[in-house]
Amino acid sequence: MTSLTVSSLTRSWPKATVAQAARMSVLGLSMVCVAPVAHARLDYSVSFVGDVASVSDLTGQIVDHVGAALADWGRYVAGSAKIDVEVQVTNSVPEAAASSRASGYVGTQSGLSVYGSGMAFKINQGVDVNGDTPDIEILLNPAYLHNDLWFDPEPFSRHDLVPLDKVDAMSLFIHEVGHALAFNGWGNHINGALPADYASTWDINTHFDGTNLYFVGARAEQLYGGAVPVTVGSNYHIGNANGPGVDLVPDIMNGVAFYRGSRYEISPLDVAMIQDMGVVVQAVPEVQSIWLMACGLLAMVIAMKLQARVTPAPRDCR
Ligand SMILES: [Zn+2]
Repeated sequence: MTSLTVSSLTRSWPKATVAQAARMSVLGLSMVCVAPVAHARLDYSVSFVGDVASVSDLTGQIVDHVGAALADWGRYVAGSAKIDVEVQVTNSVPEAAASSRASGYVGTQSGLSVYGSGMAFKINQGVDVNGDTPDIEILLNPAYLHNDLWFDPEPFSRHDLVPLDKVDAMSLFIHEVGHALAFNGWGNHINGALPADYASTWDINTHFDGTNLYFVGARAEQLYGGAVPVTVGSNYHIGNANGPGVDLVPDIMNGVAFYRGSRYEISPLDVAMIQDMGVVVQAVPEVQSIWLMACGLLAMVIAMKLQARVTPAPRDCR
C-alpha cells in the first residue's frame, strides 16, 4: 500500500458564517440555555494513506464529512477531545469500514476482560490510549466513493435532498464513526463467540439464543421493548431484512442497507446502546428536545428585545 500523506488537516468546528456572526449577541445570551447540555467538543485531524490519488477530487469533502460525523456523535457524547482520523483509501473493502485503533481496559465481567474503544476513552476520560498514532481509522473503497456516494454540500447542516440514485455519504460516515466509538469487538459475526477471555463493551452486551444474536443492554432493551436483534452474519450492526428486527432496517447502525435517496440519523436507540456500552452520554435526545424547545422560546424573547441589533432569531440552540 502506498503510504502518501496528501493532507494532514486540522479542523475544528465550522466557522460562523457572516449571518451567524450577526447573531452572536443572541447566541451569547442564550448560552445560559445551552450550558446544561454538555456536548462533546470534538476537534479533529484527518490524514490520508493508500491510493489517495484516486480520490484527489474528494479529499476536501471527505475531511468535512469526517468532521461533521464526529460532530453529530458529539451531540450526545460527554467530554472533549481532538480525534486523529486516518482515512485509508483501499480496494481491500467493498465499501467502507472503520474502528478505533486501540482499546482500553474497563474491567472484568463474567470472567472476561472487557475493553472499550480508544475513541470513547479519549472523549470521555481524556485518556489517549495509543499516544500520537491515529485514534480511529476509516477504510474507503475509491470506486464506491465515486460511483455510489453523494457528498453533502453542507454536511454539518444536512438540509439538501439526497439524490434518488445515490447513497448519502454523511449517513455512511456517521455509521462508520459509530463503529469507531462503540459498535465493534472480537465476537464471531454469526453467534458472537469470543476468541479468548476478553470482550469488547459490545460483545459483553450480546447474547446468542441458539438461532440469533441479540444486543441485551438494559437501556436498549427498555427502549426497544426487548432484546435488540443483531444483523445475521454481520455482528456490530442491528436489524434484518428478514427475521427479527425488520423494524431496525431504517436505523443508521443497521447492517442491511443504506437505501439510495435516503438520509439516516443517530437514533435514540443508538444512543441507548452506546450508553449500555459504557460511553458517557450527557444529552439524551428527549432531554435535548425539551431544552431545544425551551431555548427556542427564550431565544425568540431575547431576539425580540434585541430586534434593533439582531435578526432573525437563531434557528439552532446548540
Ligand atoms: Zn457497519
